[in-house]
Amino acid sequence: MISCRDSLQLLLDYAEGHLPDDVRARLERHFGDCQPCEDFLKTYRATPELCRKALEAKMPEAVAQKLSAFLKKELERK
Ligand SMILES: [Zn+2]
Repeated sequence: MISCRDSLQLLLDYAEGHLPDDVRARLERHFGDCQPCEDFLKTYRATPELCRKALEAKMPEAVAQKLSAFLKKELERK
């Protein structure tokens, strides 16, 4: 089973049509069962291309910031 977290990670590839058929089928089954994920997919699809690009560019940066903050804290503890 695909969890909500998995489905959000796969969503970008799904929307761009990059997923293999078996993964896509499992993801679609999850969307059928899970209203919040389906809503998120609809929101993503309704977002204009330009905003999606900004959204995609922003995500890795947010992750990177979180990671560097975490590492800094780890280093300061020693
Ligand atoms: Zn879900």
